[in-house]
Amino acid sequence: MATESVPVPRLDFGGWYVAFPERGSYEFLASDDLRATRAEPPGEDESGVWIGRAESGICVLMPVRLEVRRSGLRPVGLAVLHHGDEVYLAGHSVKYHEVQPTVLVGTSRQVGGRCVQCRTRLTEGAEIIRCPLCHVPYCIDCWDFLIGRKCYSRGCNYSPCEVGGM
Ligand SMILES: [Zn+2]
Ligand SMILES: [Zn+2]
Repeated sequence: MATESVPVPRLDFGGWYVAFPERGSYEFLASDDLRATRAEPPGEDESGVWIGRAESGICVLMPVRLEVRRSGLRPVGLAVLHHGDEVYLAGHSVKYHEVQPTVLVGTSRQVGGRCVQCRTRLTEGAEIIRCPLCHVPYCIDCWDFLIGRKCYSRGCNYSPCEVGGM
């Protein structure tokens, strides 16, 4: 169970991770420095991948002169990521995380709030999952119940996939 200091969405390289930028922004991850993204675009003979988060919260990869595979397939132009995707890039097998079970600590903003589905009051020590797109909190069990359905939040179209493999 991760603490709130582990960011989502992120690409997990196993040993280190790269967090996605704020909504509406893109950053470049160069193949020869896979530990940190940067704002500057690639040089003419550089390879890597643009890592972006659309305003909607959807995360994408755009390879630049680099072979990337998502769930075994080579994306054409742009790959939209889904929680649990295995991404192969620059010799690394990377896992995409956007759903993160979290234990609420006393300073969490969600403490005192309620699960969107069952309305249980969320207290310190509660395990929750926040919707990656609208950030409303759910109990773990309530989130599991959502698999194959849609987030209860009005206007949010997030449809959770299996939580396994975290
Ligand atoms: Zn609940
Ligand atoms: Zn939502």
